[in-house]
Amino acid sequence: MASQELIKRLEQTIENIPDFPIPGIQFKDISPIFLDPKLYEDVITELAAFSKGKIDAVCGIESRGYLFGIAIAVALEVPFILIRKAGKLPPPVASEKYDLEYGSAIIETREGQIKKGQRILIHDDLLATGGTTEAAAKLVEKQGATVSQFSFLIGLKKLEGHEKLKKFNAEIYNILE
Ligand code: AMP
Repeated sequence: MASQELIKRLEQTIENIPDFPIPGIQFKDISPIFLDPKLYEDVITELAAFSKGKIDAVCGIESRGYLFGIAIAVALEVPFILIRKAGKLPPPVASEKYDLEYGSAIIETREGQIKKGQRILIHDDLLATGGTTEAAAKLVEKQGATVSQFSFLIGLKKLEGHEKLKKFNAEIYNILE
């Protein structure tokens, strides 16, 4: 559990932007965290402590999942694997299609980077509906690895994201709600 002090510093730093990118959405802008290196370091320490000794690799979701995911992997001395939107990674790739509110999307990893039997942490900055993270977890399992943990800086509780991830039987951690 993150200290109240860390939670407070994050709450004071992350900006809530109403009606962006569309009316009705409150956008959480995490970019001010990177103006404060000590706060960034403390967030990484917190997220790395959650995963220490429990994972063999970190998968980060494009693109804000990379901002913390790589640092978590370096802190724990484990590999980091990029999960990208379709068409960005060169072949061969493993891919997973998933539904969006309108239409569908595809995410990919380089084939062979996730190893069979690995315990994987899937990391993203924010959990909302859980659609992207669920697809990422399916992509990991398809390659013979196990999703052991999910971590997020922010997990929006009023959306159905946490429900969607329950079926993977993995630990879920978010510093803020
Ligand atoms: P979802 O698939 O609905 O869980 O959406 C998660 C992705 O969308 C994350 O990678 C976030 O970066 C982004 N996202 C969704 N909702 C917000 C929000 N309110 N503020 C900032 N980013 C968001």
